[in-house]
Amino acid sequence: MTRGNPCQLPGMLPNYDPNDNEAGMKILEDLTENVEQIQQRVLEEIITRNARTDYLKGFLDGQFDKQVFKKTVPVVNYEDIKPYIERIANGDSSNIISAEPIIELLTSSGTSGGQPKMMPSTAEDLHRKTFFYNLLVPVMNKYVDGLDEGKAMYLLFVKPETKTPSGLMARPVLTSYYKSNNFQNRPFNRFNVFTSPDETILCSDSKQSMYCQLLCGLVQRQEVLRVGAVFASAFLRAIKFLEDNWKELCSNIRTGHVSDWITDPGCRKVVSLVLNKPKPELADLIEHECSSKSWEGIIKKLWPRTKYIEVIVTGSMAQYVSTLEYYSGGLPLVSTMYASSECYFGINFKPLSKPWDVSYTLIPNMAYFEFLPVKEKNEDGAQYVQCNGVCKENCMEKETEKEDVETVELVDVKLGQYYELVVTTFTGLYRYRVGDILMVTGFHNKAPQFRFVHRRNVVLSIDTDKTSEEDLLKAVTKAKVIVESLGILLIEYTSYADTSSIPGHYVLFWELTSKGNNHLPVLDPKIMEQCCSTVEESLDSVYRRCRRKDNSIGPLEIRVVQHGTFDALMDFCVSQGSSVNQYKTPRCFKSGEAINILDSRVVTRFFSQKAPFWELV
Ligand code: AMP
Repeated sequence: MTRGNPCQLPGMLPNYDPNDNEAGMKILEDLTENVEQIQQRVLEEIITRNARTDYLKGFLDGQFDKQVFKKTVPVVNYEDIKPYIERIANGDSSNIISAEPIIELLTSSGTSGGQPKMMPSTAEDLHRKTFFYNLLVPVMNKYVDGLDEGKAMYLLFVKPETKTPSGLMARPVLTSYYKSNNFQNRPFNRFNVFTSPDETILCSDSKQSMYCQLLCGLVQRQEVLRVGAVFASAFLRAIKFLEDNWKELCSNIRTGHVSDWITDPGCRKVVSLVLNKPKPELADLIEHECSSKSWEGIIKKLWPRTKYIEVIVTGSMAQYVSTLEYYSGGLPLVSTMYASSECYFGINFKPLSKPWDVSYTLIPNMAYFEFLPVKEKNEDGAQYVQCNGVCKENCMEKETEKEDVETVELVDVKLGQYYELVVTTFTGLYRYRVGDILMVTGFHNKAPQFRFVHRRNVVLSIDTDKTSEEDLLKAVTKAKVIVESLGILLIEYTSYADTSSIPGHYVLFWELTSKGNNHLPVLDPKIMEQCCSTVEESLDSVYRRCRRKDNSIGPLEIRVVQHGTFDALMDFCVSQGSSVNQYKTPRCFKSGEAINILDSRVVTRFFSQKAPFWELV
């Protein structure tokens, strides 16, 4: 690989030895130096390969020109391409959208008509993901020494898969990857040795998988140099599982015998090998730590050599930061990458930066990236609007609206600007709106870096107010400080615009717990009302105007729910097709069964007692 010609292999993937840190860093330097040329070549290659697909033929008419592509191929939402995906799922040839055969459909955590969206995937795409994962290693090694002197306790899971009527596998992207040859037959990399044997990751019974992975992690505790899961929420679920099962885990370690309910033959075999023989001293030690009244810093106590926790804590995962900090004993929280079912996008080049400072550098040979400028907040406070009139007032309802839109290229984005990400992938998505809003925070060489702001359409709306996920997170973060100072943790939340009465009002569902034990705390109504007011004061001026001047929004309500409510909510979402691995608590529900699940578990409710401050500026 040489400067100026960084991607000479088909599919724009350079070949190198992933154990070679220097080569990895050099590739990253080349990729970020030559962004413009690489993006140009990525687009050329995608168009050249796919110009004769039914989809592109209709727009390009045999032309391979970038300007023609941008002029004639529309920027689309999932609803626009859904008919093509459904045709493929039902047996039509996949070359209606992709010259390379589509080997499976990846089920996203985003839904359409109540069902997961399905994204096309090809064999080559697995290599692209492997290439991407390999690049994370030299970045981490640059900041943390000695990662080859121990292991990583990554808790990774697969989810049951289905087949489409045409026999294509439909499964979440991570399940697809963990089940692939690329993962299972990965060459040994001394910087990436896991405590979890593959059999425990690939076990389809998530309880057995979790139990066995934790057991292996505990037995190898002295070797563990980092712990993690893909998303922060999954890691916290593992801590909760440990809280509920540490006695049994310790008993297994003490006797050297795996519990009888671990019936998966692959798991039994490998876990028995890891357990090896009775280890009573180790069991005593773990029992001692776990029986402590407070679990503050438990990660550091159980895995004393751990240097960091690798979990995504950006976007909707940011709300878990304080709980993670409580359990972690001050370990850095590392969000390494930004990716999706559509495509793997970006890498965090400063993995030790604080969660709120994390930016991702989009890797230019992953896809052709375009950006729809977004006005994040109107100065007059009127509304959350997108430039170019893509979706003016009702972002939530106008998913399928198509209008002429001007996109910006990767090299042309401006510092401080907000954009919605649009991708053209090697797998059959053309100018597809991912739905994520990103903000440009800087540049690595010539490659822009982006902060993940939020996912489009995750908003509360009453009257003219549009509250974004980010606004909600900020407001909840301020309010939860009040209860935290009293030893109470907010472990989960979601919201709902209750318009069943006039005026409508926003409802927050909060699951709370006392620090150090698992009980619902006694709540002082005055404090909780203060939380309601703090949320209101923290929301934007449109909200406060509606609430104070227009009286078009009523007092904000917090409904405190029983313990386990958000687990029940997750079970429900998973039963509807969400992936366990990729599950993120939706920050807002509109109505329906999810609200019934939440409402039926409400213990107590509180309302804001005063309208928030507002003045015309
Ligand atoms: P899925 O399609 O289920 O794989 O979900 C992909 C979506 O998860 C992305 O489009 C983002 O909205 C979100 N996501 C993925 N990685 C990150 C990250 N590092 N930070 C924040 N959100 C993320």
